[in-house]
Amino acid sequence: MGERIIVAGASLGGLRAAEQLRSAGWDGEITVVGEEAHPPYNRPPLSKEVLAAPGTPEEALASLTFRPKRNATGIQWRLGTRITGSNLAAGTLTLEDGEELGFNGLVVATGLRPRRVQAPGPLAGRFILRTLDDALALHAALVPGARVSVIGSGFIGCETAATAASLGCEVTLVEGRTGPMERPLGSALSRGVRALLTGRGIDCRRGVSVIRYRGTESCTGLELSDGTLLHADVVVEAVGSMANTEWLEGNDLDLGDGVECDRHLRVLTAAGQPVPGVVAVGDIARYPDVRNALPARRVEHWATPSDTAKIAAPALVAAINGLPPAEAAAPLPTFWTDIFGTRINGIGSPAHARETRVLEGNPAHPQAGVAMGYYRDNTLIGVVNAGLPASRNLHYRQLVLDAGVLVTT
Ligand SMILES: Cc1cc2nc3c(=O)[nH]c(=O)nc-3n(C[C@H](O)[C@H](O)[C@H](O)COP(=O)(O)OP(=O)(O)OC[C@H]3O[C@@H](n4cnc5c(N)ncnc54)[C@H](O)[C@@H]3O)c2cc1C
Repeated sequence: MGERIIVAGASLGGLRAAEQLRSAGWDGEITVVGEEAHPPYNRPPLSKEVLAAPGTPEEALASLTFRPKRNATGIQWRLGTRITGSNLAAGTLTLEDGEELGFNGLVVATGLRPRRVQAPGPLAGRFILRTLDDALALHAALVPGARVSVIGSGFIGCETAATAASLGCEVTLVEGRTGPMERPLGSALSRGVRALLTGRGIDCRRGVSVIRYRGTESCTGLELSDGTLLHADVVVEAVGSMANTEWLEGNDLDLGDGVECDRHLRVLTAAGQPVPGVVAVGDIARYPDVRNALPARRVEHWATPSDTAKIAAPALVAAINGLPPAEAAAPLPTFWTDIFGTRINGIGSPAHARETRVLEGNPAHPQAGVAMGYYRDNTLIGVVNAGLPASRNLHYRQLVLDAGVLVTT
């Protein structure tokens, strides 16, 4: 075998890793192995534009497919191929048909899959949303007048509820323990988002969970923890995600929540030592928040695969060449979401704040323009702004960057 790096997972993280490996000077083989049959495509529109109006499957895929950067040449794509096991010490992966692939370096980029609601009842009629195929199947069910229950009020639950309502569905949002997007936004702005949702006819149910699904062959409704029965033609489960780590079992890693990494995105053993020649990128990577001196966590946002690939790829090439990783700027997390045309932008780590202050506007009316500051020990660690022009978003980004204390990995 010549020199080969395998990228496991062919979505945004896998693509960005392959591109960054070339940028870091790797001219050996790069093989990207991905379970989905499609080339890497963009997921955010799956709960927004594509869920609303996908066109044909071919049109939807064409509108979503990423165009690789020009330097990403000579990459071998093995799509529709699941990795079932690995032996990191021996430098081998096992594919579902039993084939073994050897590597000198490995990028772990197998991302997440939706968690399911643990309640008894039929599975048919219950949808999830992670892939293009999920979005196409859900779109077909979102016919005007359909009674739709969305379980979970995080980003995907809120966006799906808003899109379903805009398609003329009768939507109930079962919020769960916290209000709409409350973890990243805080309670004041979350209440404003709830007002946005209810103002467009969505029935938001607070502090309840599903205890049972009704129906024999297919789901016809749900029983909630407060005793209410909701009739539903369509149920969407948006209750969070779990990491695709099963293929890494047996390698003495900490797989408790994604893959534990150091600040260079090098995968660590359970004892905290870097595994030679193995890095992780994207949603699956759990890495320390160097800016805020906070413990390692996963960051499930679109910018994360690109940000982490920029650190992980050079660290991997250095390791293969027997060199230590170079210093790199620590990622500044960012996210966005769209609810009925109101763009909400997040910068930094708002979910880890101890105090929230209004910087401008009124959180009760996010569509009219608002910015909230999130503080820890009096240091600004994040800003969320909604309904403001892009120039204000840039301003707040700079504010968070300027407030940051530690900025290199
Ligand atoms: C519906 C939706 C809407 C979103 N909207 C936003 C948004 O508005 N703003 C925002 O900031 N972020 C958003 N995100 C998040 C963003 O899309 C993710 O952070 C990003 O896709 C993560 O990329 P990734 O490559 O790390 O993981 P993934 O995209 O999960 O890719 C992992 C890939 O690995 C493959 N894989 C898994 N296991 C194996 C295996 N054993 N063998 C081979 N391949 C495997 C999977 O099939 C998948 O293709 C959204 C996500 C979703 C699902």
